[in-house]
Amino acid sequence: MVIVMKRDATEDQISRVIDKLTKAGFDVHRSTGVERSVLGAVGGKVVDTRDYELLDGVKEVIRITQPYKLATRTFRPEGTLISLGPEVRFGGEEVVVMAGPCTVESREQIQLVAAAVKKVGVKVMRGGAYKPRTSPYSFQGLGEEGLKLLREAADRHGLFVVSEVMDQTQIPLFLDYVDIVQVGARNMQNFNLLKELSKIRKPVLLKRGMAATIEELLLSAEYIMVGGNHQVILCERGIRTFETYTRNTLDLSAIPVIKKLSHLPIVVDPSHGTGRRDKVIPMARAAVAAGADGLLIEVHHDPENALCDGAQSLYPEQFSRLMDSLRIIAPAVERSIA
Ligand code: PEP
Ligand code: MN
Repeated sequence: MVIVMKRDATEDQISRVIDKLTKAGFDVHRSTGVERSVLGAVGGKVVDTRDYELLDGVKEVIRITQPYKLATRTFRPEGTLISLGPEVRFGGEEVVVMAGPCTVESREQIQLVAAAVKKVGVKVMRGGAYKPRTSPYSFQGLGEEGLKLLREAADRHGLFVVSEVMDQTQIPLFLDYVDIVQVGARNMQNFNLLKELSKIRKPVLLKRGMAATIEELLLSAEYIMVGGNHQVILCERGIRTFETYTRNTLDLSAIPVIKKLSHLPIVVDPSHGTGRRDKVIPMARAAVAAGADGLLIEVHHDPENALCDGAQSLYPEQFSRLMDSLRIIAPAVERSIA
């Protein structure tokens, strides 16, 4: 942290800032220029910079280290690989496409969708069993039955599965059925849930909250990592802006930003990011071109009659064409489609 003092700061004011920094465990290096004094603070723990900004005589406080220690790229400059068996690796050369319905509705539905996505080379199927719905009157998911049906379909077709956990009491159940535990946008800052997920040894797909900054997303990842679970896959799924045409505004710039800040893989969900089927396809292509490590896409065999998010779910034929185009785009950015 660097503290720039005002031109007219008194010696007394400067000493008070140095005292406070020293008490917080920092080594303070003072440089007295012609114009003003600058204090360089090294070490110490994470502080609220506002506590220093408000001190008399302080002009500006500049943080030079990131508040997250394990999620930062400096911690693992070569990047992190997260594997599901030998076939699926997030963060490597392959882009992992995860696809399936918003929610598991019935055995027939999940089997049909599993067959459709498997046919075009998908290795990880999505499907919600516990759904975070805005209205309590909307379909809430099949619960444990949904997890069972998802697992059954995945096993039959040789797929891995990702599904959303809603609170920490459900974690043991999820460990029995899923390969990747998803934390939804609404739970990105459910710190009790994140702390419990830090104790498991399965990958966590952490979605960016709809009003969360990238730094907040990385700090949530840090919660999971600090307890010992380093298998965190970040997911950009759109943020709330003033634009209402699309369901959310898919922030694809988050991909290169996160690639620079963190070593964790970053995947993109263009389905929730746009909310409309016709917009999912171009944004999925753009995400791969921008360097995403994976995609999470909603596909339904009969979107018109889907119980949840039909409008943003691709028809299997559309999805198949999308996969074809991704196989053309990926090599242009030195990647391939898993
Ligand atoms: C989902 O992926 O099923 C979901 C609910 O997404 P989000 O948390 O991004 O809204
Ligand atoms: Mn959905």
